[in-house]
Amino acid sequence: MVHYTCDRCGQALADQRFIVTLEVQPAPGTGELTAEDLDADNLQHVAEMLDELSVNDAAAGTDPFIPHRKQYDLCAACRQAYVRDPLGCGPNRRFKFSGN
Ligand SMILES: [Zn+2]
Repeated sequence: MVHYTCDRCGQALADQRFIVTLEVQPAPGTGELTAEDLDADNLQHVAEMLDELSVNDAAAGTDPFIPHRKQYDLCAACRQAYVRDPLGCGPNRRFKFSGN
């Protein structure tokens, strides 16, 4: 039998378990190729990137253009706290929204 614990507080989860799926990905248009990128000779740079990727799969966590997805288990209390303040900045933080 699989036993779950809350990833936030460490409490064993018995009857209620909530799953948070966190996905971070670049916004559309972020990292698109430009004419300058196409004009430059990038073969050496590409070869270096491929070497790094083959050596270190952890690049998925550091390369901002590789989507990052992870799941966390939460108890009911931590679920409520997470929903109230998902970024951990405090519940009374004022957000600045872009003009989009
Ligand atoms: Zn918890």
